[in-house]
Amino acid sequence: MEINGKTRTCGLIGDPVEHTLSPLIHNTLAKLLGHDLVYVPFLTKGGEAEVEKAVQGAHALNILGLNVTVPHKEHVMSALTEIDKLAEQIGAVNTLVRTAHGYKGYNTDMTGLYRAMRSEGIQIKGEEIVLLGAGGAARAVAYMLCSYGAQRVYLLNRTFDKAERIAQEVHQALGRTCIVPMRTEEHDKLPSGEYLAIQGTSVGLFPNCEEVIIEDSTFYQRIHTGYDLIYRPSNTKFMRLVSQAGGKAYHGLKMLLYQGIDAYELWNDVTVSEKLAEAVYQRMKKELEIDE
Ligand code: NAP
Repeated sequence: MEINGKTRTCGLIGDPVEHTLSPLIHNTLAKLLGHDLVYVPFLTKGGEAEVEKAVQGAHALNILGLNVTVPHKEHVMSALTEIDKLAEQIGAVNTLVRTAHGYKGYNTDMTGLYRAMRSEGIQIKGEEIVLLGAGGAARAVAYMLCSYGAQRVYLLNRTFDKAERIAQEVHQALGRTCIVPMRTEEHDKLPSGEYLAIQGTSVGLFPNCEEVIIEDSTFYQRIHTGYDLIYRPSNTKFMRLVSQAGGKAYHGLKMLLYQGIDAYELWNDVTVSEKLAEAVYQRMKKELEIDE
């Protein structure tokens, strides 16, 4: 692209940022939509005080929007002038949208996951769902599932206390009981029925591709759809076990795609068509050498 005096800038703050796919997502969108916009990574070291300076500096430099990645998703919140309700409840922000006096924070990781699931025809409202994990990602997924009307979420984690804490927080924030915290090894105690399962642990992440959180094949016989948040590798052992038992299996790359698209739409007040989303997705797959 040709940068000129009117080019708008968006970017990513985090540490590290070297391996991010976000520039590819946003610069492809800008090119395909004919927007005069460039997206760059900003390596941002330090804690809350440094992040606050970075956010103030970005506003002074007329930066249109920012994504925020680890380790700043929580402590960036104190640097914002406004926070979207879902992001506030989750307690993590990954997208900053410029306003007159500062930035408003959103969590497009979760709206993106919802949109990715919807694009695959996966229903959340009224569903019985098994969520594996109780780390940062699973915590946000638990909020999203209950906010979007899941009937019940069985939250299975190695460390039971963390699952229990998330259940308490979500119930208090949303004013309804929808999460049942359990220990991972108690999966055989799940009530009878078939489930959508979301794999939200880091077990199976590259290079530990042969690891899986639950090995027992009887568990997978009860999973009609398995959604792994991991996308490196693009065919996790969890996905293979779901498929072998006859269920549909998905990896997390579309979640990454749609968190980017949701952010791009917020910054530019546009709607990205599914055709355009597919074009960006193909570029991401090429970059990661995913052939499917
Ligand atoms: P995290 O906060 O470190 O949480 C890790 C989770 O995995 C915890 O529930 C932890 O259980 C569990 N775990 C780790 N090692 C385990 C083991 N050996 N046995 C059993 N459980 C184990 O990580 P996170 O930020 O939530 O990320 C989780 C995954 O989501 C990562 O793989 C990440 O790549 C993926 N993710 C994908 C996207 C996307 O856009 N597709 C976005 C965000 C995250 P304990 O609580 O017992 O320690």
